Amino acid sequence: MVDPEKYEAVIGLEIHAQLATKSKLFCGDATTFGAAPNTHISPITMGHPGTLPKTNATAIQYAIKLGLACGCRIEKDNYFARKNYFYPDLPKGYQISQHTTPICVGGEIHIKGSPNEKTIQLNRIHLEEDAGKSIHDISDTDTFIDLNRAGTPLVEMVTEPCIHSAEDAFLFVTEVRRLVRWLGVCDGNMEEGSLRCDANVSIRLKGDTKLGTRVEVKNLNSIRNIKKAIEFEIERLIQITETGGTIIQQTRSFDASNDTTFSIRDKEDANDYRYFPDPDLAPFHLTDEYIKGIEAALPALPAYLKKQWKTTFALSDYDVEQLCENKEEADFYIDWTNKTTHYKAAANWILGPIRAYLAESASSYSQLHEHIPYLVQLLDLVETNQLNFSVASGKVFKGIMEQPQSPIDFAKNNNLLQSNSSDEMGEWVDQVLAQNPDKVAEYKKGKKGLIGLFVGEVKKISKGKADPKMTTQLLEQKLS
Ligand code: ADP
Ligand code: MG
Repeated sequence: MVDPEKYEAVIGLEIHAQLATKSKLFCGDATTFGAAPNTHISPITMGHPGTLPKTNATAIQYAIKLGLACGCRIEKDNYFARKNYFYPDLPKGYQISQHTTPICVGGEIHIKGSPNEKTIQLNRIHLEEDAGKSIHDISDTDTFIDLNRAGTPLVEMVTEPCIHSAEDAFLFVTEVRRLVRWLGVCDGNMEEGSLRCDANVSIRLKGDTKLGTRVEVKNLNSIRNIKKAIEFEIERLIQITETGGTIIQQTRSFDASNDTTFSIRDKEDANDYRYFPDPDLAPFHLTDEYIKGIEAALPALPAYLKKQWKTTFALSDYDVEQLCENKEEADFYIDWTNKTTHYKAAANWILGPIRAYLAESASSYSQLHEHIPYLVQLLDLVETNQLNFSVASGKVFKGIMEQPQSPIDFAKNNNLLQSNSSDEMGEWVDQVLAQNPDKVAEYKKGKKGLIGLFVGEVKKISKGKADPKMTTQLLEQKLS
């Protein structure tokens, strides 16, 4: 009998993130995705003899940004090393990477976790260049090589072996993707390979402290696949152990067509890459001022904003999670709440009508920016009962989006302001009561629940202009 409860899974992740720089890590070739094959390959990318690489300062800056956001220690004395191996899509015969001095050391990332928040410890984040792409699916007999990607800057983020479920791995990568996008250091598009993940998985008996033999599943290119691959591996490793087998250290690949993994190679000894400092690249020193400058320019991070909004704006966990999904939305909320005190209402508007409008009109928050003063007025109109929410979020919102203008003017011109003039209200109420003599009789016999129906009718004939509270009061008066 297999008893999965006996075991604990141990997972360590390596995430490669392509830095969103315009040019490559050591030359001026463009990094644009989807360009015609082999069009961004200068002699430096090709590793021709006599060429000299030059380090891209923006890539270093981006790596530091990410490191600071994760609370890493930033290494001040850095050098690049050559990691030697043969790959058909790496013409130089070595990859330029960092060896003993990763630019960011330690650090951590918080994940939501079920049920509690958890902290995932990072081992390091280092800089390295990407390889090109071997393309196997164009021809049955030949492999095609596109070297455009060779030399693109990557950071590799390596966690400690401190993740214990596929679900937590999923949450971790989700958080990393949000963070790199938030910081603007990587576009996070997994379909385009901008973010790729290797998952190291082992199992051990619960309570053991020694790590078991691990397998490494390479190049997972979607967050769902990361989860599926880890789930599959945990089960497979438990099966092997329970049936008396021995786990061997392996490198495996995920087959998305049936959610399984298969072995690519056994990894008996550690590879010997013969690292040595790249003689063509001078070591680089980072000053305290330089690092402090980057730190000062960091945007407010999701964790900080969530805490802030929960305590000072009394927003719910759900609201803050949603508002921190992407930075444009969070920034929009910040700008709006700098001009209003209806904090909760502004959050509701964003998560409701505004998101719907953006999706429908395929527009973005940057286009909404000039509307903020009008949205401030619109919220006031609703909160002071001059407009009801459905009219405000429907006709008025649409009107002022089509043509930026004051919602007060728009509502007045279109006769949409809620009425609290007792004459007009009285007329609507009388009209509804006159139209429904049967219901009035029932109400008077004690069916008090009918009040809702009358209020609804008044709302209808007033086209949403009747203030619901006043309507209820008036109806109760007239019916008593
Ligand atoms: P390598 O250089 O061979 O890739 P590292 O020691 O750098 O190996 O580890 C790579 C990743 O594997 C790290 O995320 C680490 O936490 C994880 N890892 C190492 N040993 C284990 C293990 N026994 N079980 C699960 N994960 C592991
Ligand atoms: Mg590895």
